[in-house]
Amino acid sequence: MKVLLLQMLTKANKLLNKKDKINITFLLAFKLKLLSETLPSRQLLHNCYPSIYIDNICLKCLTAVETQSHIFDCYKNIAAYNKIKNKLKASITKLARKNNAKKNPSDIESKI
Ligand SMILES: [Zn+2]
Repeated sequence: MKVLLLQMLTKANKLLNKKDKINITFLLAFKLKLLSETLPSRQLLHNCYPSIYIDNICLKCLTAVETQSHIFDCYKNIAAYNKIKNKLKASITKLARKNNAKKNPSDIESKI
């Protein structure tokens, strides 16, 4: 199952690369910043520019330091993440149906 999902994601990346060079560039930049832990979180911005970013508190929840991990853990972002998850799930299911996957698309959808 994981191999099939990986193959579909790889194909989706190739399709995106062919259709939209600008978005793939932004996606690559995001991935690099994520892996190198250099996403512009409030903590990073505060450390680099303390006179501009007076504090490092998350502007959404105002309860925690906005580290890179907090961006993904903040309870105020849950609705946005669910929206992205559902959109991704629909795209993968559509791609599976289009490619006549051997598995039943509803089986694939339930495992995503
Ligand atoms: Zn927060």
